[in-house]
Amino acid sequence: MPKRIAVIDRETCKPTVCSHLCKRVCPVNRTDEDCIIINSEDNKPNIDESLCIGCGICVNKCPTKAINVINLPGELNEAPVYKYGKNQFEVYRLPIPKSKMVVGLIGQNGVGKSTAIKILSGKLKPNLGMLEKDVPMEEIMEMFKGSELQNYFTDLGKGTVKVAYKPQNIDEIPKMWTGKVVELFAKMGNEKKLEELKNILRIKGMLDKDVKNLSGGELQLLAVTATLMKDADLYFFDEPSSYLDVEQRLRVAAAIRTLSKDHMVMVIEHDLAVADYLADQVHMLYGKPAVFGIISKPYGVRVGINTYLEGFIKEENVRFRDESIIFSKTAAQSMKTKHFLTFPKFTKKFESFSLETDSGNLYKGEIIGILGPNATGKSTFIKMLTGSVKPDEGEAPGDLKLAYKPQRIELDDSEKELTVRLYLNKEMEDKSMKQRIEHMLDLERLMEKKLSTLSGGEMQSVIIAGTLGKNFDILLMDEPTAFLDVEQRLRVSKLIREIVENKEVAAFIVDHDLQILDSISDRLMLFEGERSVRGHGISPMSSRDAMNMFLKNIGITFRRDPQTGRARANKPGSQKDSEQKGKGQYYYVG
Ligand code: SF4
Repeated sequence: MPKRIAVIDRETCKPTVCSHLCKRVCPVNRTDEDCIIINSEDNKPNIDESLCIGCGICVNKCPTKAINVINLPGELNEAPVYKYGKNQFEVYRLPIPKSKMVVGLIGQNGVGKSTAIKILSGKLKPNLGMLEKDVPMEEIMEMFKGSELQNYFTDLGKGTVKVAYKPQNIDEIPKMWTGKVVELFAKMGNEKKLEELKNILRIKGMLDKDVKNLSGGELQLLAVTATLMKDADLYFFDEPSSYLDVEQRLRVAAAIRTLSKDHMVMVIEHDLAVADYLADQVHMLYGKPAVFGIISKPYGVRVGINTYLEGFIKEENVRFRDESIIFSKTAAQSMKTKHFLTFPKFTKKFESFSLETDSGNLYKGEIIGILGPNATGKSTFIKMLTGSVKPDEGEAPGDLKLAYKPQRIELDDSEKELTVRLYLNKEMEDKSMKQRIEHMLDLERLMEKKLSTLSGGEMQSVIIAGTLGKNFDILLMDEPTAFLDVEQRLRVSKLIREIVENKEVAAFIVDHDLQILDSISDRLMLFEGERSVRGHGISPMSSRDAMNMFLKNIGITFRRDPQTGRARANKPGSQKDSEQKGKGQYYYVG
């Protein structure tokens, strides 16, 4: 019999709305058995998983979508490593830290990454799903007997494992630290290491800045540098790529790889090209967010990423996605011919930065990807199109309706207190698309939550939904993939394409995930220049020409994986790298 779990989101569950409808409709309760009982402490239901027959009636009837009843994969014949409580989220298996290796975690958010980090850093003791007793260490060791985790937990138990952690949510840093960047690093000691990292990560320019004035990319570099400076045995990097441009991502990846020569390193990364470049092995994370999560066995990085895209783990006989993902341009892309508008040349001078962007044409149904180093004016260009930054030369297209998602999401206090449902009702003007967008972005489960309680990825999805649901002629998205997991990135890309093509509108998308940008864009607009000094936006050109030009500028070549079509960075100086450079084929081969 498949193992069944029932999970109730106690925040979303509102008995005052439904008067325990679940209990009244449950067919097991109707036969006078106590499958659903009401907990006297919080007046909310508990489901007895051993009595539940998995009919799903309560799941469908619950007006706030607070209940999930799931049959776990039949192959999962083991106890969870951790369960948070009765009818609460549970996680199966753990990733394995390996000496002198970078172990990558790829997959969905909300299926156990944070739990795994807490357990491996000793902050959370595995309970093996047993809620009624404090599980003795011997029992825990028995579970991991014979695996590399046994030694790891032995060392953790002796207190000999020091852990350093780079958190995901770097936007919180200015709330915790004040003062100049250089002062913060000075407090950490380890001057020699800082000296080395200054050159590798090219952070000299931000050292004298106040933390509160740092851009998203600078905050990320600050967090990565601070973690690299620590003296630890196991290093965790939770999404080290967010807000960084392609060149910075690869620099950070190289620094993390160097660290792994003497340490254990684990990285959670949703940019697949970066994960591929960075990791030696990967674990796949899958399940149902906030309900259950499974962490796969480790696989070599190429096989692991390809298996993830395939959605089927042959060795474990588990399918976790109905369809496999293959990256290829559709025939509809790159063929847009109906002229939509011509946008003008813009110039803008600030105190220490000047920007010039070429004029260009936009076609109906077209998506223009925007690619280039940070601090060369991409976001300013978008803001000039919205009219929120006034250009010195050129005028934003006046009578067109724009929908804009900024890079960093800043909501006012009253908005933060809205539920997702109220926020989306307010923001989404095109009601015909509302259900489709909410479904594609898996927002139904978040509807009763307040915006202030959402994770970075959840917040990004909600804001993207609000933007896509507007009536617009031009869609402007600044870094929509930041904080989204691989699945969410793919769904957002699909949705943007569907809406822009069906409505015959146009879009500008700024992003640094090369794979996503390449697969979503009809053409690309490149930005180049000297960071924070001057920038130049070149008129949109074919993706092939733009990618080759961009990668030539940073000296990196990519090849395509024959099985999935995904981009794989060549090792600098490798035969493939030299061959492609010789032919001027930095991305598109053949
Ligand atoms: Fe009862 Fe389980 Fe059916 Fe829900 S899914 S109504 S708890 S039997």
